[in-house]
Amino acid sequence: MASNGLDTAPGNDFRPPRAFRDIHANADLDTLREKFYQLYIAVEQSPAATAITDTEGRIEYVNQRFLDVTGFSREELLGKTPAMIQSGMTPEDVYRDMWQTLRSGRVWKGELQNRKKNGELYWESEVITPVRDDRGRVVNFVAVKEDITERKRQEDELKVMASVFETGQATLITDPDMCIEKVNQAFTDITGYRAEEVIGQTPRLFKSGVHDQAFYARLWDAVLETGHWQGEIWNRNKYGDIYPLWQSITAVRDEAGDIRHFIAVFHSIAERKQMEIELERQATRDHLTGAHNRRAFDRAIRQAIRQAEHSGDGFSLLLFDIDHFKAVNDSYGHDAGDAILKRLATRAGEGLRSTDLLARWGGEEFAILLLDTPLKGATTFAERLREQVAMSRFEGLAITISLGITEYRPGDDLDSLLARADDALYRAKRSGRNTAAVATGQQD
Ligand code: GH3
Ligand code: MG
Ligand code: MG
Repeated sequence: MASNGLDTAPGNDFRPPRAFRDIHANADLDTLREKFYQLYIAVEQSPAATAITDTEGRIEYVNQRFLDVTGFSREELLGKTPAMIQSGMTPEDVYRDMWQTLRSGRVWKGELQNRKKNGELYWESEVITPVRDDRGRVVNFVAVKEDITERKRQEDELKVMASVFETGQATLITDPDMCIEKVNQAFTDITGYRAEEVIGQTPRLFKSGVHDQAFYARLWDAVLETGHWQGEIWNRNKYGDIYPLWQSITAVRDEAGDIRHFIAVFHSIAERKQMEIELERQATRDHLTGAHNRRAFDRAIRQAIRQAEHSGDGFSLLLFDIDHFKAVNDSYGHDAGDAILKRLATRAGEGLRSTDLLARWGGEEFAILLLDTPLKGATTFAERLREQVAMSRFEGLAITISLGITEYRPGDDLDSLLARADDALYRAKRSGRNTAAVATGQQD
């Protein structure tokens, strides 16, 4: 039991102090009356509710505190039993244990939930002491009670908070110096670290190296200035994996305004990130070949044009189309045609730098954007691709491609560039196919 001042209550062999026994023996009535009156005042003024009952539990005396707590008047209580204030909430066996203990002459200590006259429930910690007469017979029970409703409420609140802490998002609590004080199970689930492995350490342990100094400086500026930060952060788990989190950090201040704790709450957004990447892929890629789609390619060319306009960085554009592909489909079937398209896209993509972009332009027509590549380099590239395709077998079949090449010219827009590349491709077809043709004049 908590230290409530009642721990020092008399034990089972309680007897009045010698001074009282002597008084009794001397039977000096005045002294007795005087001592009695002192004690009466002490009990009346006591902050502990006190009741005295006979052996049947009928109330013979209650002090002022008892009346204040329960809301009953003395008249309402005297002669009644404490059933008056029973709430019906206390388990039966608590009373059973209480009566067994008292009947056997021992002191009972326990906690009861009682009810005030106005119906309000409250908790009491009680000590009930059997009082014996000279011959050792129990003649009364003295109950001294402390209201522990507030303590119970705090205990309940702590229990609720503890269960919220354990069932909620991953949580980490530090002291003002950022030393970790407490983490929950969800924290361990995400980071791999058990509580005893991180308590006393600082969250620098989780740094991934993904963010620069300025990122952390902004984060802490926000926490210290506004008390809060939230955002995406990449951390490293116990096993060295780097993963994205959505994290919120709060500074907890005391009444004087000093920081007492930092609380970080987070959840993994790895799945969401993966889904974003997949959606992005679906939006920008061609389903059959995995090459970029036309929309993504248009955007890339427009970007390249802007770049060229601003910094003068040139680039080249290639269009290529399979020769006599209709005949391939007709002879070997559409599925075989599809398989060839896939293989061709893979082959064409293999020779590209990370800044180049391959797109499926139409049915069996592809486009390649070569950044920072003037016409000469683009022509060499195109010639090599043409030759590689011609020398390879796709699904066991020999195919050839024709290519049109052009480079960016000042004043170009998407349409003018594409029109020139398309004209060059058309020329390659006309000149017998399996050829790369370079766009020359404006009117190609
Ligand atoms: P050429 O280009 O040499 O002039 O002759 P071609 O027969 O290849 O003619 P064209 O470029 O007009 O090709 C269009 C044919 O490409 C029509 C169709 O049979 C085939 N094709 C287009 N898209 C697909 C596709 O997604 N899958 C398959 N299997 N075939 C396709
Ligand atoms: Mg075509
Ligand atoms: Mg064709």
